[in-house]
Amino acid sequence: MANIGYIQVVRHCNHFCGFCSNPTTPYIHDLESMRVLVDDLVARDYFGVVMTGGEPTLHANLPEIIAYANERGLHVRMITNGWRLADRSFARELGRAGLRLVHVSIYSVRPEIEASLRGVEGTLGRAFAALDNAAAAGIEVNINSVINRQNADHLDVNVRYFTEHHPQVRHFVWNNLDPSMGRAEVNQERFVPRLADFELSLHRALRHLHRSGRSFRVERVPLCYMTEFAWASTETRKIIKGEERVVHFLDDKQTVRQTAWGHIYADGCGVCSLRSICGGLFDQGGAYDPAELHPVFVDQGAIVGAVLGDPGDPSFNGDMSVAEWRQEFELRGAPSQVPRSRAAMKESGLVPVGRITDRGRRLFAAKRKKEAAQAERLGVAVELGPAGADE
Ligand code: SF4
Repeated sequence: MANIGYIQVVRHCNHFCGFCSNPTTPYIHDLESMRVLVDDLVARDYFGVVMTGGEPTLHANLPEIIAYANERGLHVRMITNGWRLADRSFARELGRAGLRLVHVSIYSVRPEIEASLRGVEGTLGRAFAALDNAAAAGIEVNINSVINRQNADHLDVNVRYFTEHHPQVRHFVWNNLDPSMGRAEVNQERFVPRLADFELSLHRALRHLHRSGRSFRVERVPLCYMTEFAWASTETRKIIKGEERVVHFLDDKQTVRQTAWGHIYADGCGVCSLRSICGGLFDQGGAYDPAELHPVFVDQGAIVGAVLGDPGDPSFNGDMSVAEWRQEFELRGAPSQVPRSRAAMKESGLVPVGRITDRGRRLFAAKRKKEAAQAERLGVAVELGPAGADE
């Protein structure tokens, strides 16, 4: 297994996406508090770490924390909106620090849609520059995209643009919108797609990438909406490989260790041949409709074999047959999801994630004020702040 952990380095951002699920909080990290989290992932024997946010490039100590994680032997990755990587010297600095892979987040190659989703003008050109600057700095470049109501019909148009204009990008990741937290939760009607809205364009996009020899992953999309490429489902791969994921949230959730990958299922899922390896329908937030699910009757073994036999996967060892996997899978214990509260972490002697300081509160208050004005201009709702933080 090659488990990968996530550290939210900051929770503020220089963009203002109406569906942001991890908006600003009063918590902040310094170099020391981030080192503790890197050490935690090393102690868990994790393969890598993803620096995320908010927008992680806004933390002044990011190069140092990347260098530290790299020295500790983690494969260091980052998810970014690309704004700061449009500066070539900054991309080079992160490359020198040991950043191995960057996921640049782009929702749409249509400038008016990207600008409306980001809440800020001029982001697309900078994200394109980030793709090129990161590659020139020796950092592997992927593209991440949140599937939402406004890009659902042209996911294929996006990838065709990227393969033509940025051919160095060899891997793509889609996350169907998580409507359970932050601004996504309070703006569901505006941004949450139906599965049928993107089924065709996602399929065209995956087929185009597959034919061009590129790889991809898709999260929070049930397998009945991606059967031909079921092996690319993030949840399915984690179920098959028995992987876990730790997220160090820079908010009241603190450290969450996720070992269960199933969401909710419809009655028809009971007869579906993919039920035991399917993540089902993402239910948190209650925005998706189980009536959109439909059982499929395809060869599950072929999907398991494709995942186990993928030499491009960091967990690949090539030793296990599908029959051996079945035996091992049946013996596995029930997975669990263990969110840990800050109080419980303190009790068990673990170091809390980040701190709420006077400076953090001041930054948070200033950011909330600015974001209220942005929200009004864009006509989106702002999320509820953490209890007491607005005082
Ligand atoms: S019918 Fe249910 S189990 Fe089958 S692919 Fe769809 S969501 Fe998964």
